Amino acid sequence: MEKEQLIELAKEAALRSYSPYSNFRVGAAVLCEGEHIATGANIENASYGLCLCAERAAISNAHAQGHTKIEAIALACIDADIQVSDHELMPCGSCRQWIKELAPKATIHIAGLEESFVIDQLLPMSFSLDSHKDT
Ligand SMILES: [Zn+2]
Repeated sequence: MEKEQLIELAKEAALRSYSPYSNFRVGAAVLCEGEHIATGANIENASYGLCLCAERAAISNAHAQGHTKIEAIALACIDADIQVSDHELMPCGSCRQWIKELAPKATIHIAGLEESFVIDQLLPMSFSLDSHKDT
């Protein structure tokens, strides 16, 4: 699976976003074990604190389908105003923490950016409870 293919799947997922409050549609696609794809879109709620980001939705879908070895994540913020800032394209802090724990080896592709990332670039000196993990 090429980077551009995964980004296209993230863009398609963004079209299924439920974002009536922000009008900021985001999609994500994760690649697991070289072949399985799970997607997600941001899902908002009138109780704003309950909003779910696309990245976490996609990671949850992958896990729920039994695919836990996430190799790559593509993210597409199709309503971002990149004339203002590239920062509108980046994953939020909560999603970075999720990626650190649930997809630590994933390459992170972001629609609109040439560079791809690893989580240690986006979340240096991150929090973890390694001593509490069973495995
Ligand atoms: Zn997020």
